Amino acid sequence: MARDPVADRRWGWQCPRCDADVPVTRDPDSETFRWECPREACLAVGFGFSSRRRARLALHRYRERYQNVYR
Ligand SMILES: [Zn+2]
Repeated sequence: MARDPVADRRWGWQCPRCDADVPVTRDPDSETFRWECPREACLAVGFGFSSRRRARLALHRYRERYQNVYR
């Protein structure tokens, strides 16, 4: 599967906690997708998604949940 960094950027992935850009990568061992916050102080992470779309939806829900708690 070819990676397309331009397309990835268009998705607008952002960490639910710190709004850092979050890369989504494919784990070749388990053939699942994961997102992981690049900031060491944050360490928000999600994994085990069967597609980029599912990972994105999970990230979106995570974000909503987090903002509901803290607003
Ligand atoms: Zn973060």
